[in-house]
Amino acid sequence: MRTYGPASTPTHPLATAPVSSPAHSVDGFVREFLHELNTNQGVTLSLSSVNDQYLALASTVKNYLMARWLETNRKTRDAKVKAVGYLSAEYLLGRQLGNALLATDLGEIAHKGLELCGLDLATLRSQEVEPGLGNGGLGRLAACFIDSLATMDVPCIGYGIRYEYGIFRQTFVDGRQVEQPDTWLSLGSPWEFPHPEASVQVDFGGHTEKYTDDDGRERTRWVPAWNVLGVPYNYMVPGYLNGRVNTLRLWSAQATKAFDLGIFNAGDYAQAVRAQTFAENISKVLYPEDSTPQGKELRLQQQYFFVACSLRDFINNELEEGFDLHNLSDRIIFQLNDTHPVIAVPELMRILVDEQGFEWDEAWEVTKSCFAYTCHTLLPEALEVWSTELLGRLLPRHLEIIFQINDEFLAEVRATYPGDEIRARRMSMIAEHPERGVRMAYLATVAGTKVNGVAALHSQLLRDKVLPDFSQLWPEKFTNVTNGVTPRRFVKMANPHLSDLISDTIGNGWVTDLERLRELEPYADDPEFQDKFREIKAWNKRRLTSLLEARDGIVLPDGHLLDVMVKRLHEYKRQSLKLLHIISLYEQVVSGKIAASDLTPRTVVFGAKAAPGYKMAKDTIHLINKVAEKVNNDPVLEGRLKVAFPANYNVTLAEKLIPAADLSEQISLAGMEASGTGNMKFALNGALTIGTDDGANVEIRELVGDKHFFLFGMDEPAVAELGAKGYNPITYYESQPQLRAALDMVMNGAFSDGDQDMFGSVVHNLLHQDRFMALADFESYVAAQAKVEEKYADQAAWTRSSILNVARTGFFSSDRSMRDYIQRIWHTQPMI
Ligand SMILES: *Cc1c(COP(=O)(O)O)cnc(C)c1O
Repeated sequence: MRTYGPASTPTHPLATAPVSSPAHSVDGFVREFLHELNTNQGVTLSLSSVNDQYLALASTVKNYLMARWLETNRKTRDAKVKAVGYLSAEYLLGRQLGNALLATDLGEIAHKGLELCGLDLATLRSQEVEPGLGNGGLGRLAACFIDSLATMDVPCIGYGIRYEYGIFRQTFVDGRQVEQPDTWLSLGSPWEFPHPEASVQVDFGGHTEKYTDDDGRERTRWVPAWNVLGVPYNYMVPGYLNGRVNTLRLWSAQATKAFDLGIFNAGDYAQAVRAQTFAENISKVLYPEDSTPQGKELRLQQQYFFVACSLRDFINNELEEGFDLHNLSDRIIFQLNDTHPVIAVPELMRILVDEQGFEWDEAWEVTKSCFAYTCHTLLPEALEVWSTELLGRLLPRHLEIIFQINDEFLAEVRATYPGDEIRARRMSMIAEHPERGVRMAYLATVAGTKVNGVAALHSQLLRDKVLPDFSQLWPEKFTNVTNGVTPRRFVKMANPHLSDLISDTIGNGWVTDLERLRELEPYADDPEFQDKFREIKAWNKRRLTSLLEARDGIVLPDGHLLDVMVKRLHEYKRQSLKLLHIISLYEQVVSGKIAASDLTPRTVVFGAKAAPGYKMAKDTIHLINKVAEKVNNDPVLEGRLKVAFPANYNVTLAEKLIPAADLSEQISLAGMEASGTGNMKFALNGALTIGTDDGANVEIRELVGDKHFFLFGMDEPAVAELGAKGYNPITYYESQPQLRAALDMVMNGAFSDGDQDMFGSVVHNLLHQDRFMALADFESYVAAQAKVEEKYADQAAWTRSSILNVARTGFFSSDRSMRDYIQRIWHTQPMI
């Protein structure tokens, strides 16, 4: 079945060549833009709204990209080269317009063209609602990776889910988080184009049966009970100035006829409509849990839904007719972004064995060579385990296949370690407690050609602590690829003046070859360069100030050290430690231990969403807001300490916040943050890091040097040792007066109008439980903050360190991450 392309051979000369867009001149651009406004939006310029104008502009740029997308598809298809299938349940893309203008070099033309129409590009750009189809770092990583692959001319299809509602929009009511649905599609979705004719049917439920085929072979057949339709929506992923436009293909669920008429009361119209809603629920909403997934049935449906669509799509539509699937790994490597898409492994086995008639061993050889697995965590609660009851009910054939993969794997383990039954049980993909379930990380490890962690420390802990038996059995299977971020979005777009300064100084090759930032090192001591660098930071702060004033009514004071902690709210990330530092500074002034004039003027900015069901995280948000209210309004501080917590941290806000920051807070308990990517974005924009020896912080510090990084806290072995000995937080409370005074202040109701219970759970947790040992690192954190202030007082020294952070962190380009994947995992080639 071919679903893309004409049924018969085209004869017209223009049939195979994409019709190019005339938009690459100001006049052509204006004509296209007005044409889009008239024909797509159905308005004249004089009557158009800003949203009309934004949509017309987006369509103009999309049309321009479309010719290149068609050409990329044709070239890739003809070349029959190996592609990357990036399987990810999340893509946190951020706004599309700015990136598309940058990648196509249409920014100037669009600016001038719109000016001729009396319009302002920046106003139109700010109309865009970002597609928030991810929770945080993991989804943003996927977005950075597909950007890098397009820029490096590597064929890649990103596969995922077109959630109708992305990550919730966060608001605060009386300081508490309130979630609003993210209706990102409601004002139009100009960047996507559906291909309903390429829809895929996805089956669920039912049972399996054995039968004997015409050749007398015992076979299994899945008899599903219901199905839905997956409709592909394509998004273009443009490379930076190279003409390549890759594809992001997101699936949307729709009801099928069989669904309406089948098990749901044929003939009952109202019931059939309800059934339709049931089917469409599958792609309705992104689960807002980050790091602590809930084992919900709908989530498993989502996972299987997008993976089944994607495998079917690749095999049917991307490979030429008659392709021998024995050679599938010559043409695709599916990268599993965490365990969310791991159900793809039994799905490929099912396709090969049940549908294509492969022998089991043959199918396993192919399957084993088509997947690689990235693990993103060390937290046990983040490792997905699906109950066999649920899996068997929803995907009975897949459960059988998993059992068989497991049986054969355990036979191999027993052959390698004769008599070691305990080891075999430990390594089983099937957990027996607390209920029988499938350990998806183990399945991914057994099936993957490679297993990687996302920073050096994380990969080592993955080998030593999470999957030690597997790394003993297959040491060569394990590797590290340190994460990265795209310099196009997070430097070039987000920090235009710094980008110009860099390009004026060393040329513009750095945008696609970030290690070249090293050439800035000689300028770190140059007073003239330092002045320009500082002026840019000040400009970025003013830009942030106007944004926050308009967006949140927050007024940032001038001349403060801007201290920023933005990331999901999670206990392991320890926002509460940052908060204790603020409270402690405040308490010391209130109690007269220090004068307000002793404080380094400092504004702390938080940005963080909490999972809606995560009580401790939500209580912490409440406390941050209450502390902000108190601190910001108490004259005793003379305005020298401010706390700002703009709601709804997302990519759009990150792009404004990060370039303005002086200090980057990366203070997770060592051994808990797999990598972090926020840390990289900050360093590349010249913020200095205060951080623990965790995740990619370790590599940042090694690269920038100890003198330009504020290290504090226990390292991972010290954490392990303290954990083994027994962490007893109350001893820190009792022995450290400053810490004690800060905690007492919360307990006495200083931030809750005297209510001593409001934050009881937060304080109680810090004092009596806290798996993440915030109090153990408090003293060291406060000492490191004193060093921050000392350095900040010497602006030349600070600026020097800041420049060196930029110059020495080119390693953290996601282009470099992609090169590592290509060389060590995928073995694919760029097209040129
Ligand atoms: C980069 C990014 C993250 C990840 O931040 P960490 O500090 O690495 O957890 C989360 N959310 C958004 C919007 C981001 O841009």
